[in-house]
Amino acid sequence: MEYAAGCYHKAVWRRLKQVKGSAVTTHYELLVIGGGSGGLAHAQRAAEYGVNTVVAEAGPLGGTCVNVGCVPKKLMWYSAHYAHQIHHVADYGFDVSVNGHDWSVLKKSRDAYILRLNGIYENNLDKRGVTHLEGHASFVDAHTVAVGDKQYTADRIVIATGGYPIVPRIPGAELGITSDGFFELEERPQRVALVGSGYIAVELAGVFNGLGSDTTVLVRKEGVLRSFDGMLREELELAMQESGIRLETGVYPSELRKTDDGIVIKGEDNREFGAYDAVVLAIGRAPNVESLNLEAAGIEQDGYGFVPTNEWQKTNVDHIFALGDVTGRDALTPVAIAAGRRLADRLYNDMTDRRLEYHTIPTVIFTHPPMGTVGLTEDEARAQYGDDVKIYESRFNPMRYAFSEEKAPARMKLIVTSDDEKILGCHVIGDGADEMLQGFAVAVRMGATKSDFDDTVAIHPTSAEEFVTMR
Ligand SMILES: Cc1cc2nc3c(=O)[nH]c(=O)nc-3n(C[C@H](O)[C@H](O)[C@H](O)COP(=O)(O)OP(=O)(O)OC[C@H]3O[C@@H](n4cnc5c(N)ncnc54)[C@H](O)[C@@H]3O)c2cc1C
Repeated sequence: MEYAAGCYHKAVWRRLKQVKGSAVTTHYELLVIGGGSGGLAHAQRAAEYGVNTVVAEAGPLGGTCVNVGCVPKKLMWYSAHYAHQIHHVADYGFDVSVNGHDWSVLKKSRDAYILRLNGIYENNLDKRGVTHLEGHASFVDAHTVAVGDKQYTADRIVIATGGYPIVPRIPGAELGITSDGFFELEERPQRVALVGSGYIAVELAGVFNGLGSDTTVLVRKEGVLRSFDGMLREELELAMQESGIRLETGVYPSELRKTDDGIVIKGEDNREFGAYDAVVLAIGRAPNVESLNLEAAGIEQDGYGFVPTNEWQKTNVDHIFALGDVTGRDALTPVAIAAGRRLADRLYNDMTDRRLEYHTIPTVIFTHPPMGTVGLTEDEARAQYGDDVKIYESRFNPMRYAFSEEKAPARMKLIVTSDDEKILGCHVIGDGADEMLQGFAVAVRMGATKSDFDDTVAIHPTSAEEFVTMR
C-alpha cells in the first residue's frame, strides 16, 4: 500500500518531483525508517498534527517489541508464572492435577495474538493517513531514501531501525539460536543453555525452567544483571538456584560443537558444558544500520555503529533524527515511544521544550519472581554522593505463601540522601513487583522524599505497603 485513501488529516497530499536524472520520486514532509515502537509512535503523532507522513518497514509492523520482544516474551512469562502458581493452589484447598504442558498450543495462541496486533498496527496507520511502504529502506542522499526500486524524498527523516541480536564469532555459533530463534521454537527443548548475563538471558531461562526444561545460564563474570543493584542480583540468583536453574560463572565460550548427545559448549579455559538440546545466545544487541547506507547522507555513527543524537534526538545532519534502540540509549519500548512522541510534539506542535529526559527510567525484569528498579543503584549513589547516602531495606515472605512450605521472599530497598532523605533509588524483587513499580516511579521522578513515602497511608495487606512502612 503506497497511499492510504480516505485520509482525514489537514495536509494529506503528495508532490511529485524529478530528482536524480529521470527517476520519479514521491515527496513527503516526514519519512520514518522503521515501523517499530519508536517509528510508529513518531509517525502517528506527527500525522495527528497533519504532517504528510510515510513509514518504511522491512518486516512486520510493530518491530521487535511486538514480534520478537516484550509482547511474546511476556506471554511466555505468564505461562511459566502459572506453572509456579499451580504448585501453591493446593494449599488453598484446590484439588488440581497437572497433566503436562503443551508448548505448541502456547506458541499457536501467541502467534495468533501477534498477528492480530500486526493488523491493529496497520489499521492505526490507515486511520491516521500514514502511508506504509513495505520494504527495506536505504539512503540515496541526505533527503532521498530508496525502498525497493522506488525513491522517496522528505523534508525530515527519522531513523528508528532498532537492533538485532549479536551472534558471537566462534566456531559452531550457528548451532545456537538467538532470542529471535527462541520465538520460533515449535517444541520445548529439554536441556537448555542460555549464554549471557543480561535481562533477556535470565528472562528466557525463567520461562524454560518454569515450563520444565533443565536450564543452565552461562555468564562471563561472576553473576547476572551486573548493572543492577546488588540486592536484586543476590536475591535473583538465590531464587534461580532455588528453582533449579544452574548458574555457571567465568565462562568465555570459544566453540559450540555438535555431539551425538547434543550441543556442547567449550570455554576458553577448556571447560566443557552440556550436552544441550538448545543453546540460546543472548550476549547483546547491535544497531540495525548495516544496509541503511548512512554514509550517503553523511550520518555519523559511534564506535559500536549506533547513531548518536543530541538531547533533541537530532543526528549530526540537521533534518535527520534518530530514536529508539538504534541510538544506543536505554533500549526499552516505552523509551522509544516517549522519544518519538515528544519529538513530534516539538517539531509539529510548537512544544519547543519537549524532549525525553533519559533519567529515572523505570524498568522491570520478568524473572520468577519479577524485579523492578528506578533511579540509582547503591553503588551509583555512593559514587555520586559518597557517605551522604542512607539505605532502607526489607526482606519478607509475601502473605500468599502463608500456607506453603516453599516460599519466594520479596526484598525491597530505598536509597536516600542522608540530609533531606530524597529518594535516589527504589528497587524491588518479589511477586507483584512488575505491577508495583510504576506508581513509585512517578513519585521518584517528582522528587519524593522518604517522609512523603512515610506519610502515605499503606494499602493493607499487600507487599507494596512495605515501601511506605520501612524503618
Ligand atoms: C527478547 C526481547 C525482550 C524484550 N522485552 C522488553 C520488555 O519487556 N520491555 C521493554 O520495554 N522492552 C523490551 N525489549 C526491548 C524492545 O523490544 C526495544 O527496546 C524496542 O522494540 C525498540 O523500539 P525501536 O522502535 O527502537 O526498534 P524496533 O522495535 O526494533 O523497530 C525497528 C524496526 O525497523 C525495521 N527496520 C530496520 N531496518 C530497516 C530498514 N533499513 N528499512 C525498513 N525497516 C527497517 C525493523 O524491521 C523493525 O521493525 C525486548 C527486546 C527483546 C529482543
